Amino acid sequence: MQKGRIFSIEEFSTYDGPGIRTTVFLKGCPLRCTWCHNPEGQRTEAELVRSPNGCLSCGACLAEGARKTGTPCLVRESVEVCPRRLIRVCGEELSSEGLIARLEKNIRILNMSGGGITFSGGEPLTQAAFVTECMHLLRGKTHRALQTCGYASEETFARVLSECDFVLYDLKLIDDARHKQYTGVSNALILQNYRRLAASRVPFITRIPLIPTVNDTEENIRATAALMKECGVRSVELLPYNKMAGGKYLMLGREYEPHFDGSVAPCARLEIFAEYGIEGRIL
Ligand code: SF4
Repeated sequence: MQKGRIFSIEEFSTYDGPGIRTTVFLKGCPLRCTWCHNPEGQRTEAELVRSPNGCLSCGACLAEGARKTGTPCLVRESVEVCPRRLIRVCGEELSSEGLIARLEKNIRILNMSGGGITFSGGEPLTQAAFVTECMHLLRGKTHRALQTCGYASEETFARVLSECDFVLYDLKLIDDARHKQYTGVSNALILQNYRRLAASRVPFITRIPLIPTVNDTEENIRATAALMKECGVRSVELLPYNKMAGGKYLMLGREYEPHFDGSVAPCARLEIFAEYGIEGRIL
């Protein structure tokens, strides 16, 4: 039985696939998008998260770290000593059967809405064996979706796809040098897997996080629309940059450094998609 690490389970989501869904967020992502609004999903291992709201500045949490390690810092025991319960461990380990048992209680309601379960992240393909096993256990019980950026080997992607009913596929930047600059990795695997997905029989939707001055340029939108047309894709969902994206970094003791001007509204350029016969929808 596979084990996985999860940082959140969100119920009654209406944005993560058809109908009403439960979305499972898995830890671990090979990308480091500078606009990431789920930084707690980036690292594979469990992390300590401290909410700044309501902190008494009593220092008990750091003193516990100093007692254990000699340096003021957060340690697991800090969770217990905080009088406000502001510290938590982010990243729960669960077996596939344990997760499915937890998800099963709402499946009837999800099914009645035409919804189901979505595996998201982080990047769920980083825990491909676990996700594949969970989806297999859900086969015939509910609709199973994968929300992914597609960064995985062909074999890994094909294995997970074989258990999927639906895919929400993120495309960010077509130019490889800019993709590396803003996400830390090449887009070669992502574009290859996008073509494989389009050639498969699994229904999918393409999603683009619209980041001002990064990927909302005419050049990138035109290149994205051309790729989609080549793949026979006729619709796209656009997610404008979330200005609150930096909020969670503080809780992880990290700085948010987006390297672009987040105060500018992104351009959807729906008319360019329309030129290529693609209907765009802004979420
Ligand atoms: S123990 Fe809790 S209340 Fe005290 S400083 Fe740490 S986070 Fe703030």
